[in-house]
Amino acid sequence: MESCDVLIVGGGPAGSTLAWTLRKRGLDVVVLDKSPFPRDKVCAGWITPATTEFLQLDKEDYSRGRVLQHISGFRTGMINGAEVITRYGTTVSYGIRRFEFDHYLLQRSGARLRLGEPLSTMERKNGAWIINDDVRAPLVVGAGGHFCPVSRFLRGNLARSKREVIAQEVEFEMDESQQRECKVAGDTPELYFCEDLKGYGWCVRKGNFLNIGLGREDNHNVTEQVKSFLGYLRERERIPANVPAHFKGHAYMLYRCASQNLVEDGVMLIGDAAGLAYPKSGEGIRPAVESALMAADVILAAAGDYQRSRLLRYQSLLADRFGKDSPASDIMPQSVRRFVSRRLMENRWFSRHVLLDRWFLNTHRPALS
Ligand SMILES: Cc1cc2nc3c(=O)[nH]c(=O)nc-3n(C[C@H](O)[C@H](O)[C@H](O)COP(=O)(O)OP(=O)(O)OC[C@H]3O[C@@H](n4cnc5c(N)ncnc54)[C@H](O)[C@@H]3O)c2cc1C
Repeated sequence: MESCDVLIVGGGPAGSTLAWTLRKRGLDVVVLDKSPFPRDKVCAGWITPATTEFLQLDKEDYSRGRVLQHISGFRTGMINGAEVITRYGTTVSYGIRRFEFDHYLLQRSGARLRLGEPLSTMERKNGAWIINDDVRAPLVVGAGGHFCPVSRFLRGNLARSKREVIAQEVEFEMDESQQRECKVAGDTPELYFCEDLKGYGWCVRKGNFLNIGLGREDNHNVTEQVKSFLGYLRERERIPANVPAHFKGHAYMLYRCASQNLVEDGVMLIGDAAGLAYPKSGEGIRPAVESALMAADVILAAAGDYQRSRLLRYQSLLADRFGKDSPASDIMPQSVRRFVSRRLMENRWFSRHVLLDRWFLNTHRPALS
């Protein structure tokens, strides 16, 4: 039987960041993922500079043979409404392809990888976990995303909440004629809000790749909403006429409050498995990475004693970082919904300083100390 200090279930940004951080401090880490890598992940692939900083991403190295699209502005508005273009004159975000990004981070982590292997059994024996009857570890970290089996094991189906985002997306490489037809600029992604403000659609161009999608906190008729969003984009000639018809769906949770059960004896949850995405923008990669760094700190301090009482500090760190409670605001605060939304969205000052700087770019949120 194989053994390790920490077994991480899931090799997405949360799992690979934790593995990388623990490996740097000399722990023996195994990452188990049901998918062989590289693998696709349904995601727009927009990341903020804070994420690249926390990851200490070597951008020059990363850019070799991979897409790292610099973003210096946004086109925003309501679907069927007026638009505002905000330009920053400097890079305020990046576009990446999850197929490349997640693979890069996982390879970089230095962990032992068991890929293409789902978690099938998890048993407690003599104070340690036996995973898939084949790996023994005193600590198992659930980083398996929204459908993480460790999260289900720990919390049952409590994980489903009103703050679930249902999204559909397509990402494809444009041929030459599609590239000519596409009006979406790589440095200026486009965000269009649904009239009820329960979600938004996006077009993110990354080099020759185009990612189009729509996510909502309300799971009624998402497919219809996606269709009508595509119709809107085509009507305005923003995207090529022949976008692939097959959109992939996925779900994830927005951060709600800090009191959830995220640790147990020898078990922790990080990233989407813990439901940490920012409620206003749906950005999930940065909180996934941040939660991994906080978890690493607690794991290292516990020095092999992974009783619940030693791991509870992780929940306090999350509460300090993400807030004790996030009001149920449906992506945007109730107060601004419908009533003034259309007006606000047309306002340049609001678009830049509130919608983008505060809600999407989180420029007010300090670096993780
Ligand atoms: C349509 C859409 C668009 C999005 N766009 C953005 C965006 O532009 N920017 C942003 O910051 N966030 C975005 N998000 C959110 C973001 O994708 C997630 O928050 C982020 O991927 C969370 O990372 P993670 O490592 O926690 O989980 P994941 O990236 O989901 O990784 C989980 C891993 O666990 C593995 N796994 C699952 N089940 C098992 C099992 N049983 N056994 C073993 N392994 C398992 C999976 O194969 C996967 O590799 C988007 C989400 C969606 C759905």
